[in-house]
Amino acid sequence: MTKPFASSTDTETKTDTLEILGKGVYALTAEGDPNVGAIEGEDFVVAIESRATPAASRDWLRILREQTDKPVRYLVLTHYHAVRVLGASAFDAGDIIMSDASRELVAERGEQDWKSEFGRMPRLAKNAEEVPGLTWPTITFATEHDIDLGGDRGKLELRFLGRGHTGGDIAVWHDKTRTLFAGDLVEAKAALYTGDAYHFDWAGRTLDNVKAYRAENLIGGRGAVARGVAQTDAAVEQTRKFLNGMIENVGRAHKAGGSLREAFEATRDALAPEFGSWPIFEHCLPFDVQRLWDEYDGIEHPRIWTAERDREVWDKLQN
Ligand SMILES: [Zn+2]
Repeated sequence: MTKPFASSTDTETKTDTLEILGKGVYALTAEGDPNVGAIEGEDFVVAIESRATPAASRDWLRILREQTDKPVRYLVLTHYHAVRVLGASAFDAGDIIMSDASRELVAERGEQDWKSEFGRMPRLAKNAEEVPGLTWPTITFATEHDIDLGGDRGKLELRFLGRGHTGGDIAVWHDKTRTLFAGDLVEAKAALYTGDAYHFDWAGRTLDNVKAYRAENLIGGRGAVARGVAQTDAAVEQTRKFLNGMIENVGRAHKAGGSLREAFEATRDALAPEFGSWPIFEHCLPFDVQRLWDEYDGIEHPRIWTAERDREVWDKLQN
């Protein structure tokens, strides 16, 4: 018997939950599907993350429009992954903001990533034919970019905190409500996707930088909103524990001259008791282990995932 590819047989619709974290501060979680958010300025809205397609983004905008009818002035994208960016056109945003590094990744691998991610998670690709093309930013920055929200609403600080889930992730900090949108740098009870990651940087300095905010609200890439510093710390440390478990087990197999499959099996055995029931664990792990193996092989820049390479690695490790 062969194991169904990635999340290709996951067809169960998830329920969206809007959380209001402060005046004009919104997070939409979806039972382990990708999270999105928004912050109201005095005269405009800043949307944080798109969904995978315009139709999926419109579902989110309908919920947001029950709270505010201000126009979306800025759409902030924490990283380049297709399920986070390809629904951007629905926002009709004045500007789309990413890091310089994310823009380079869109140019280098956006097309391949689109096919790869929609193949892995077809359920998220609602009305995929409406995607008008790759999503390009109109504003980019190297490490820091601020947005003044106007009135007494404070400002948003967009920051590159080091390489992590990808080479270009940014976090979005609202000091006034001590809220951090961490993108896929942190997951709350959802498995980590690390197929394009820099595991060693992420597990070290980058997560230290995330934790240093001492956020009262932390919205990760997937899973529930963490509330209160004890919970936000716990979400960061869960993420680090997942990464360190991978680093330890893949590293041991690599050092001993073992095979990729041995590394995969050891990692799954080690992580499954704590993380195995979390969304997308079995889906992510083959891609995660392959990328970390590559890092141990000295491959600095992540290899590009294509629909074909996805299947090869899946068949090698999961079947
Ligand atoms: Zn991602």
